Amino acid sequence: MKKHFLVAPGPTPVPEQARLAMAESLLHHRGPDFKAIFEEVRAQLKWVFQTEAEVLALTCSGTGAFEAAMVNFTKRSDTVIVIGGGKFGERWGEVGTSYGMNVVEVPVEWGKVVDLNALQHALDKNPNASMVTLSVSETSTGVLHPLSDIVELTQKHGKALLAVDGITAVGVHDIPMDEMGIDILVSGSQKAFSIPPGLGFVAASQRAWSRADASDHPRYYFDLRRELKNHLKNQTAFTPAISLIVGLRVVLRMMQEEGLEAIFDRHRVLAEATRAGVQALGLGIFPEVPANSVTAASVPDGVNASGLVSFMRKDGVTIAAGQDRLKDTTIRIGHLGYFDSTDIVVALASLERALHAQGQPIEFGSSIRALQIILAGEVK
Ligand SMILES: *Cc1c(COP(=O)(O)O)cnc(C)c1O
Repeated sequence: MKKHFLVAPGPTPVPEQARLAMAESLLHHRGPDFKAIFEEVRAQLKWVFQTEAEVLALTCSGTGAFEAAMVNFTKRSDTVIVIGGGKFGERWGEVGTSYGMNVVEVPVEWGKVVDLNALQHALDKNPNASMVTLSVSETSTGVLHPLSDIVELTQKHGKALLAVDGITAVGVHDIPMDEMGIDILVSGSQKAFSIPPGLGFVAASQRAWSRADASDHPRYYFDLRRELKNHLKNQTAFTPAISLIVGLRVVLRMMQEEGLEAIFDRHRVLAEATRAGVQALGLGIFPEVPANSVTAASVPDGVNASGLVSFMRKDGVTIAAGQDRLKDTTIRIGHLGYFDSTDIVVALASLERALHAQGQPIEFGSSIRALQIILAGEVK
């Protein structure tokens, strides 16, 4: 017998209550039962996104939702300013390029936050840019970018919409979409929403929607105007991932019960405990400013990061390797969504054995001790 622990920054563990709900007999998506569920889900998604705007639930992964945002709220001849600095930030540039748009990337060294002067420079040089894109919690490097500052600079520009990939930020960090004035906010099901992959979410402000008719990009499945019309009738344009929406309702109820502030707080404590734990084992925190969704940790010299990941996987603990060029030097431990401190204890204990197996002088229990001190400090 073997237990499996998913401690990755997505997909994330799915609570048993949601798994059981998803195993029930399938509903028909044009029937009244589905409509009632979808009505509740729509309201709860607005609550999590902290917006009055409709949060469209699309049947696709997170990238699909972002692509939809780009093709519906820009034109082919437009310039988009893409904040780089990681696999996801840079991906939005690839989406823009594949639609023939003029992509201006603000390069960011992986692990660093965006240089606001460089962003200002790009905004000044491109007064006609119609969109700025940002992966606010850059899951590949673990960085949290300074969102308020970026919102402020983009708003001063006057023309560009700010499209925020909040795929590992919504439900983790406090990002009040309406209050902050974010134009487009995107997320996905398999991160903080704690259900399997397959739903992408897009919420857009009035200002963004006012540009939807002018888009001349090819769009059919991802024509968000059609999707909005249907959502307002508690329907989707096409057959949705019905089971995922059923599971989502369960998780959203759990989130509602916990409350947004408690959710953000839980993520903060888990992130602090994880960071303290890995540092106690001699690893470094890779990002300049770490997000609370994932801990990207750099391994000491002489340690092979992908070796740690495969050791832990054999141990039943799945964390994530570093992405692309970070594969051999960093590991990533996820702590977003359905996570509590026991998950981190399991991950750190396994990491201790993995480091020991590579000959590192590990004092067993030292990472757990560091975690305990953080957790104990949180007892009210
Ligand atoms: C997971 C993730 C995505 C998108 O991923 P999909 O595989 O398309 O769901 C995009 N941005 C960030 C920051 C992510 O963490």
